[in-house]
Amino acid sequence: MTDTDVTRTPAELLAELTVEEKAALLDGSDFWHTEPVERLGIPALMVTDGPHGLRKQAVGGDHLGLANSVPATCFPPAAGLASSWDVDLLRRVGEALGRETRAEGVSVLLGPGVNMKRSPLCGRNFEYLSEDPVLAGDLAAALVEGVQSQGVGTSLKHFAANNQETQRMTVSADVDERTLREIYLTAFERVVTTAQPWTVMCSYNRINGVYASEDPWLLTDVLRGEWGFSGLVVSDWGAVNVREDGVRAGLDLEMPSSSGAGTQRILEAVSTGTLSTEDLDRAVLRVLELVEKARPALADRGTVDVDAHHALAREAALQSAVLLKNEDEVLPLAATGGTVAVVGEFARTPRYQGAGSSQVNPTRLDDALTALRAQFDGSRDVTFAPGYVPEADPDDATGEQARALVAEAVDVARAADVVVLFLGLPASYESEGYDREHTNLPPEQLDLLDAVVAANPRTVVVLANGSVVNLEPWQHTVPAVLEGWLGGQAGGSAVADLLTGVANPSGKLAETVPLHYRDNPTVGNFPGEHGHVRYGEGLLIGYRWYDAHSLPVAAAFGHGLSYTTFGYSDLRVEARGNGVDVRVTITNTGDVAGSEVVQVYVADVDATVFRPDAELKGFARVSLEPGEAREVAVELDERAFSFWHSATGRWVVEGGEFGIRVGASSRDVRLATTVQLPGDGVTVPLQLDSELEVWLQHPDAATAVRERIDGTPWAGMLFDPQHGAMMRAIPLLRLTRFPGFPIAETELPGLIPG
Ligand code: BGC
Repeated sequence: MTDTDVTRTPAELLAELTVEEKAALLDGSDFWHTEPVERLGIPALMVTDGPHGLRKQAVGGDHLGLANSVPATCFPPAAGLASSWDVDLLRRVGEALGRETRAEGVSVLLGPGVNMKRSPLCGRNFEYLSEDPVLAGDLAAALVEGVQSQGVGTSLKHFAANNQETQRMTVSADVDERTLREIYLTAFERVVTTAQPWTVMCSYNRINGVYASEDPWLLTDVLRGEWGFSGLVVSDWGAVNVREDGVRAGLDLEMPSSSGAGTQRILEAVSTGTLSTEDLDRAVLRVLELVEKARPALADRGTVDVDAHHALAREAALQSAVLLKNEDEVLPLAATGGTVAVVGEFARTPRYQGAGSSQVNPTRLDDALTALRAQFDGSRDVTFAPGYVPEADPDDATGEQARALVAEAVDVARAADVVVLFLGLPASYESEGYDREHTNLPPEQLDLLDAVVAANPRTVVVLANGSVVNLEPWQHTVPAVLEGWLGGQAGGSAVADLLTGVANPSGKLAETVPLHYRDNPTVGNFPGEHGHVRYGEGLLIGYRWYDAHSLPVAAAFGHGLSYTTFGYSDLRVEARGNGVDVRVTITNTGDVAGSEVVQVYVADVDATVFRPDAELKGFARVSLEPGEAREVAVELDERAFSFWHSATGRWVVEGGEFGIRVGASSRDVRLATTVQLPGDGVTVPLQLDSELEVWLQHPDAATAVRERIDGTPWAGMLFDPQHGAMMRAIPLLRLTRFPGFPIAETELPGLIPG
């Protein structure tokens, strides 16, 4: 056998490694590579960001690779992709990302990120998918499947409860287990159980005081034990706290290189016996298994069709944009007619991705101004005024330049038939590493908007932002708003297609736009203090909160208009055990082809625990020609009806009635019905001090207890309509001590069902 023979299995290689080599394999060799073992033919693997495009550091680039990465297709960041609600699109984007990853000799793409959008202020919301775990999980699973179909891996991140950037490396997310399970872990669980990402990246933060990077409950009991994860856990870059504790907890690989510190700690811990050889070997085996999975793609890198990927980026941006408002049919812009004034620097210099580790060096970049001019091709005059400088200009302390830009824009707007005003967040407003302070557009842009609308009320606003902005102060002053998100490298041409009606908007909001930031559930509990952030809103993230409090919102979760209209009819539900098949017919009732996202929300009507009013549990996208009708099917499994039962530590479906609400948004329910489910009969275990009422509700204890009480003088009092409820709220143990009670304390243990 030669040194570079690669036919040995990971287990065989493990047996040949020295303890020093093993410890070294658990540490990166630099920022982006794992450690090789040349004598055994174990190569160094390269891993790079990120979720919506490859950020492979070019030779000679800075260490973090933030600048100077090799050109790669910049797809819309997650905030946009999620608004497509299109699993097929996410799979195809994933395939393209996988091809680019493979072609560059990279083995793992560091994404997607499925953290929940708990607060609109999180600086990294542009990189996350949704405020809803089912939507985030299903879309991310499709992306992971797509990437991995190309023979390279993904890294599902940031596991877990990493929902803010403030103190992101140390803050403790203090959150109860039910909320963790139902909201903050669900998206991870869906991806792991359906798509098996090659790796999971643990987050920087602590959860209830324990660093994610050394939390055995999170990294081993839940991730592997309950969800069956069989891949490798890698640290977020610099997330390791006490290295050997991490290995023991299930954190396999430390990245980037710890400059030997981690290796040394592992060696010492093994030699003193505080880290077992089994724990060490288990982690090393996972690195070796990752290497084995990566080998075939490294040997045959394939090629990339840059034009085809650009076209896919354009399609993705088309599906990502959300038409929030369109009055008087101001959109789409007619192909012929008077002048179209394009106002706003973002039309010429697009803001198309967020800042930080996900920043891609695009293969090309479309801008909306050029695309609009090309589309009208002389049939309508297109004029332009920049209107603002995106980042406040330090040379314009007196505001003279800003005023001149507004004046120029007003002239251009006044002379036009219709204005398309491009507004959005400057890059410095939202980034990895820090949170936003407010949700407002920059003041210069708001001044511009006022002036332009006064000059020409036929103004369409196009937004470029990675997380929600405050629409409330101005939305009513304009007839149309198109939320373009950060559209990736083809966002400019996609927006032009949508404005002119070459394409029909079909995106739906994956996050609520609150009327005011102050309405958000995290106010008072974000970003926390003294190293702790309390998830005080519990389950009521996003629309769950606004619905629970009947709060008006600027734009509801799931909302998005089209240039056509859709009819919903013939809702049918059929229970299968504790799952339900939902069928509904959707008809395109307008004049142009379009796509609708059908959303299915479930309400647990008979719950004995608190449950949100209604929660998204399934969705489907359907494309229809004018007049076409099609039946859409959405399968809801048992999990769609369960909640995390804290007393028994498991998922439970309570038997009874459930509401099934089908609609075009969380607040536009078109059809509703109910279904009865048997439930799975799980009951809260009885304690000696359980209230009498609880004993009487327990299917296996009620009869025995009732028989002992009936016919005694106590029955009258305990079941009296006036006082009975008060009496039955007394723990049975205490009742047994009351004089003359028909059950003795010593008999109670025997009444607890076995
Ligand atoms: C980010 C990760 C990223 C890693 C490598 C970290 O700061 O949180 O998302 O994958 O850097 O760039």
